[in-house]
Amino acid sequence: MRIAIGGIHIECSTYNPVLNEEKDFRVLRGAALLESPYFAFLRDYDAEFLPTIHARAIAGGPVSRATYETFKSEFLERLKPMLPLDGLYLAMHGAMYVEGMEDAEGDWISAARGLVGEQCTVSASYDLHGNVTQHIIDALDIYSTYRTAPHIDVEETMRRSVSMLVKSLKTGVRPVVLWAPIPVVLPGERTSTVDEPANSLYALLPDIDAMDGVWDASLMVGYVWADEPRATAAAIMTGTDRAVLEREAKRLAQAYWDARGDFVFGCETGSIEECVARAVASPTAPVVLAESGDNPTGGGVGDRADVLAELIAKDATDVVFAGIADKAATEACYAAGIGTGLDLSVGASLDSQGSQPVTARFIVKFLHETADPSDRQAVVSTGGIDLVLSAKRRPYHNIVDFTRLGLDPHRAKIIVVKSGYLSPELAPIANPNLMALSPGVVDQFVERLPRLRKQRQTYPFDKDFAFEPQVFLSARAA
Ligand SMILES: [Zn+2]
Repeated sequence: MRIAIGGIHIECSTYNPVLNEEKDFRVLRGAALLESPYFAFLRDYDAEFLPTIHARAIAGGPVSRATYETFKSEFLERLKPMLPLDGLYLAMHGAMYVEGMEDAEGDWISAARGLVGEQCTVSASYDLHGNVTQHIIDALDIYSTYRTAPHIDVEETMRRSVSMLVKSLKTGVRPVVLWAPIPVVLPGERTSTVDEPANSLYALLPDIDAMDGVWDASLMVGYVWADEPRATAAAIMTGTDRAVLEREAKRLAQAYWDARGDFVFGCETGSIEECVARAVASPTAPVVLAESGDNPTGGGVGDRADVLAELIAKDATDVVFAGIADKAATEACYAAGIGTGLDLSVGASLDSQGSQPVTARFIVKFLHETADPSDRQAVVSTGGIDLVLSAKRRPYHNIVDFTRLGLDPHRAKIIVVKSGYLSPELAPIANPNLMALSPGVVDQFVERLPRLRKQRQTYPFDKDFAFEPQVFLSARAA
């Protein structure tokens, strides 16, 4: 049983002007792919896995066309000498936007199908914040997606996709994929599976999986910050009994539609001014204030200084702010050295049109020792604020991201992170958690973003329309 492995994994806000280039991806090739912890689970299967290329980046702006074409041709070039193949497994995210291209995953997956031929069984795993099209469904035999947000079932989902593929090849039974798009697309922060109604909707899936003729039930939230026609939620089923699959896809789509008005933010929200005022006045600590409109893991730029400006204006103290991506400011700190005071302009370094920088006097407190210039991070302080500056866009979602910089988030009064819903490590220490509905390219207040290309009608942009679930079968089932 010979199964090729590969894929491309990124989530792109079409509102983010900062293009992703080759250097922004972590690329696994050949043997290194199989040896990586990400794909280590493959050792548990009795099959021969043939690695091609897997390119992955944190969420951001569109992928440059040249970068996409380079990765795609390398993927296809590595796939060619492996033919004929029994199976192909694609580890995707599903919300990639390539400049000048419609449905980039559709392009990648159908190119793979064109090469491996009709006899090969193709399985894909997705992030539930991906957007799907008929073109994608038409090229696939097997599909599965995450069932948790925040995502704590990444490996589990990849295992489901590979287990179904191995089962199909061992038994000779090839399942079919069908889907029911749902004209709803909401931010991840209103659809976290920690909260209702997503928690109950996703709890339906294991019982559907257990039905005869069903191999997998997937529920997509979709990706709202892509202004594109394919941005919707969807129910997607893999299995062998078409009637049961259709019935369950419609039932899931209807349940999601019926719940559309119940999706709310899982924490207290407000404007930047309201959240900073509440944080400063909070009798409990640490307040974890999430600056949601600039969250790099959601596709935000990560360079905005709006919240910093408000904290300085309100003389906030005992603040740990992690962090703002600003290469020039970071480099200036490394050049100056620890203990030096310097005037810095911080923010708006990547998207100069999107926001305003803050200029203030800072003291350099800490410099992260690293041989990789793009991994440089400096801690600077001004007034009662410790601020992390980073050379590249990056999240600070784990405790070690702070402690490695000599910061103790537990002892702060206010922790500011560029995040939407909090990560599994930050959520438990938040006392309380506030989410600023701040401006940016991943603005949580999605109705105030321009909508030029999304389908009409789509909730919550349009509210007054009816919907009846319809099921569409993969062309592979013909
Ligand atoms: Zn996601």
